[in-house]
Amino acid sequence: MQKVFDVAVIGGGIVGLASAYKIQKNKPNFKILILEKEDLLAPHQTGNNSGVIHSGIYYPPGSMKAKNCVDGRHELVAFAKEHKIAHDICGKLIVATEPSELPFMKKIYGNGQANGVEDMQWLNSEEIKEIEPFCEGIEGLRVGCTGIIDYRATTEKLAELILQIQPDSELHLGEEALKFDHDGDFKLIHTNKGSHKAKKAIFCAGLQADRLAKKDGVKLKERVVGFRGDYFELTDRGHHKVKHLIYPVPNPDFPFLGVHFTRMTDGEIECGPSAVFTFKREGYKKTDFDLRDTIDALSYSGTWKLFFGNMKFGIEEQIRAFSKKRFLKTLQRLIPSLEMDDIRPGRSGVRAMLLNQSGDTRDDFRIEYTDESIHVLNAPSPAATAALSIGNHVYNMAQEHFNWD
Ligand SMILES: Cc1cc2nc3c(=O)[nH]c(=O)nc-3n(C[C@H](O)[C@H](O)[C@H](O)COP(=O)(O)OP(=O)(O)OC[C@H]3O[C@@H](n4cnc5c(N)ncnc54)[C@H](O)[C@@H]3O)c2cc1C
Repeated sequence: MQKVFDVAVIGGGIVGLASAYKIQKNKPNFKILILEKEDLLAPHQTGNNSGVIHSGIYYPPGSMKAKNCVDGRHELVAFAKEHKIAHDICGKLIVATEPSELPFMKKIYGNGQANGVEDMQWLNSEEIKEIEPFCEGIEGLRVGCTGIIDYRATTEKLAELILQIQPDSELHLGEEALKFDHDGDFKLIHTNKGSHKAKKAIFCAGLQADRLAKKDGVKLKERVVGFRGDYFELTDRGHHKVKHLIYPVPNPDFPFLGVHFTRMTDGEIECGPSAVFTFKREGYKKTDFDLRDTIDALSYSGTWKLFFGNMKFGIEEQIRAFSKKRFLKTLQRLIPSLEMDDIRPGRSGVRAMLLNQSGDTRDDFRIEYTDESIHVLNAPSPAATAALSIGNHVYNMAQEHFNWD
């Protein structure tokens, strides 16, 4: 007889594993099936992100991002300490280089206060230099509770703990969920390797979230688009110019934090990511192209509205993608002494953003339910920081709507 799982979780990124972990912790007898289409955990957004534990300072008070980022950060740091995952609460600087940026930096500071972000300090230019001697700014904001972590190791640890709590739960790597139907009260999940029976399903498919939601019968007007972020890294020659994390004041018109400097847990210092619209959702090279992704993107009115509404920004990002000199110029706004030989090209990551028909990216997290499924439809940054709190949200939603006692 075919095994019946209580829940199938589709997607082996940090949101999928954190959701599965929270369900498993609360329901230790549940048999959970986790499907990840690639051959390792965290192969896409989670494993290619900046590795920052965000404080929660940027997000509008009352938003899902604000609440889940602050709560998730506290849980994540405790989890990392308990399970010895490489992390460091090294703090970060947000640095204004022009007077026009100060009102937004004040707004961010206010958000931080309203969101319960601890350990923030407003700095003058000398105080900035005491922390980051090569950084030039007119005023800065130090956020002491920001940190760095290894998100892939966190995801792997969550998987390990799930299987420890319930050895009958299963993690299937290299298995892609393709379509869904029913067998009586059960959900049938057809994959490239066979089919599985589950009572309920939780979808955490990141860059593929909209496609799986539609296949599962969700009427979704929005579409996921991918923004590739390219990184450079500091060479040995430039390495001493950055100690921790240095961010610009973000442009309030865009849902990205701006190109920043990040010390990673392995000691490398990365600069990035840029934000280039990509024609391959899971493509990491500058020239990557996928016909289906391109048709999907270009046949959607929201994409064109996004292009026309942000033409100047889009063109600048495309040029910067192919010009080290332009990238360096952006970095020099924060560290003017950086030179061409101080940086070398690094890796890339692709962010999934849910784009509405008016061309606006849905900024807040979005998680919806049907009678038998929960869909995490939008989980952009800071969803890695927030993952354990998103996991609580998913569990609470399941408990309420699936009538779990
Ligand atoms: C460049 C970049 C920098 C970022 N920096 C930060 C940061 O510093 N801090 C932070 O908190 N957040 C950051 N983020 C955001 C964060 O990484 C994401 O919000 C988070 O990783 C989302 O996790 P996820 O599990 O939803 O998605 P993913 O990690 O993308 O996981 C989704 C998984 O679903 C799998 N999947 C898809 N379809 C199927 C299918 N049909 N069957 C089986 N499996 C499937 C995919 O293979 C994938 O592994 C960044 C993101 C990027 C891209």
